[in-house]
Amino acid sequence: MSDFNNESVAAIETTLNDVDRALERLRVGAYRTCQVCNIPIDDAELVANPLLANCPAHPELA
Ligand SMILES: [Zn+2]
Repeated sequence: MSDFNNESVAAIETTLNDVDRALERLRVGAYRTCQVCNIPIDDAELVANPLLANCPAHPELA
């Protein structure tokens, strides 16, 4: 096998979960809304990170 270890798999699973949640937010029309304080997220922030679920006021959740 290759160099993949449990950490690599965990990182991939985290990314997949983030993609799933981003797609779900797109489906329900909440994609551009901060999941914590419900304000719109800047387009520039979403361009920098399309999987962003929260505005920059919550860096610990990014
Ligand atoms: Zn927020």
